[in-house]
Amino acid sequence: MGKPTGFMEIDRKATPYRNPVERIQSWDEISVPLSESDLREQGARCMDCGIPFCQSGISAQGGARGCPVYNLIPEWNDLVYHGKWKEALDRLHKTNNFPEFTGRVCPAPCEGSCVLGIIEPPVAIKSIEQAIIDRGFEEGWVVPEPPEKRTGKTVGIVGSGPAGLAAAAQLNKAGHSVTVYERADRIGGLLTYGIPNMKLDKSVVQRRVDILKAEGIAFITNTEIGKDISGVELKSKHDAVVLAGGATMPRDLPIEGRDLKGIHFAMDFLHADTKSLLDSGHEDNQYISAKDKNVIVIGGGDTGTDCVSTSMRHQCKTLTQFEILPKPPDERAESNPWPQWPNIYKLDYGQEEAREKFGDDPRQYEIMTQKFVGDADGNVKELHTVQITWDKGNNGRMAPKEIAGTEKVWKADLILLAMGFLGPENPVLEQLSVERDERSNAKAEHEVYTTNVDGVFAAGDMRRGQSLIVWAINEGRGVARECDRWLMGSTELP
Ligand SMILES: Cc1cc2nc3c(=O)[nH]c(=O)nc-3n(C[C@H](O)[C@H](O)[C@H](O)COP(=O)(O)OP(=O)(O)OC[C@H]3O[C@@H](n4cnc5c(N)ncnc54)[C@H](O)[C@@H]3O)c2cc1C
Ligand code: SF4
Repeated sequence: MGKPTGFMEIDRKATPYRNPVERIQSWDEISVPLSESDLREQGARCMDCGIPFCQSGISAQGGARGCPVYNLIPEWNDLVYHGKWKEALDRLHKTNNFPEFTGRVCPAPCEGSCVLGIIEPPVAIKSIEQAIIDRGFEEGWVVPEPPEKRTGKTVGIVGSGPAGLAAAAQLNKAGHSVTVYERADRIGGLLTYGIPNMKLDKSVVQRRVDILKAEGIAFITNTEIGKDISGVELKSKHDAVVLAGGATMPRDLPIEGRDLKGIHFAMDFLHADTKSLLDSGHEDNQYISAKDKNVIVIGGGDTGTDCVSTSMRHQCKTLTQFEILPKPPDERAESNPWPQWPNIYKLDYGQEEAREKFGDDPRQYEIMTQKFVGDADGNVKELHTVQITWDKGNNGRMAPKEIAGTEKVWKADLILLAMGFLGPENPVLEQLSVERDERSNAKAEHEVYTTNVDGVFAAGDMRRGQSLIVWAINEGRGVARECDRWLMGSTELP
């Protein structure tokens, strides 16, 4: 343990974001790194508490506690405090293939479970994680490490998101020849074409992809398995197949006026925006522009927030975000104790930007959309809503109930649907006769990852439904271990 009294003497300081007014002028990353002395001080706040819930990654009472990849957090906090950055990096890479992604965009369930967090603001774990890996790249410590021997076995991986990439990295390390197939034109899954550039700069993704290539992994883009290559053909080409195609089938809102022009799924908006940014710095105009428009984002989650921040950078005229659930409390509710993830009200980066420009948090809570109304040319012009409350229905489940007299009409020229995802959208599952679970995901147990088809494994959002990058990395590592065991009879992968 670094400094026994550190947690009593030093206040929490996490990676700050740039000023909202300035940052919406560009697509550059919003975070500003802390200084080395600040980071070392923050490491000193770790109490080395004996039972580090932060690194436990246990699932209990319907939620996860701590870090899902079991990062050795107290160890690297101590090493950072002592200025031993290279050793901290080695510890970090033992459990996490891609800390530069999680250090930037993980919601940090570790911090929700930090023991110091019971009485004080938790240790700034995520900021320290990002600093360790960024320093590793700056110092040239992160280099390709191809395997010394090849096994002669080949594995085909469908999808290049964090689950597919983590599986590829681990299987390659075990000596198998790995090919990753990606239907998009760039590698990275939602790291590239979901999370906007200002949260995760795409050069950070490409830098890691370049290392994986140099380690011997083959990437084939613009190729959809199930369409360009059938699932059956893929299986015949490889000794084993890992399905990591994500779960991006969007939830729709099939109400009156849904066919009007100007209503889009969030992912169509976000994908086109990043592609245009990367292809031409937005010069090609091949994106859905929010410029000078009254924008309404339906959905209060992370995807909705990314639509808010993207619209802010397009210079939208007004911005409103609808959330069907009640506003969360300012403090943990009694039903949401430590070490659970705290479900409390917070202003995320997109809402902070909108508040700075328009004067208020753009979110409206407990609001339900009834219909869209268009003009004579078929363009959406307004949206009709009603306020709701949540009551227990006859079946004991909470259900929304409309409040009479709260109907309202909102002006809107661009509506973005960000109401979550229903599951994988993949013909490859049918072609390979892979069984689905009750939520339509590929059916396979967590930590086992085998589907009903011998030699076919499933991981990431395609298996667990839309989740987090850190869970995708957990599953990518796990599926590699089980696939290696199946191929070789035993495994040394963690
Ligand atoms: C807008 C948005 C923002 C998010 N922000 C965060 C965040 O800030 N922090 C966080 O932790 N999580 C975030 N998430 C969730 C996180 O991105 C996902 O949980 C994670 O990327 C899942 O990884 P994956 O590898 O399983 O799938 P994905 O990242 O979805 O990758 C799957 C890949 O497979 C490809 N594919 C699918 N089918 C085929 C096929 N048949 N043939 C070839 N290729 C195929 C897809 O094109 C895609 O590239 C966000 C999600 C969204 C939608
Ligand atoms: S990966 Fe996420 S949960 Fe794990 S240490 Fe990093 S920020 Fe925390």
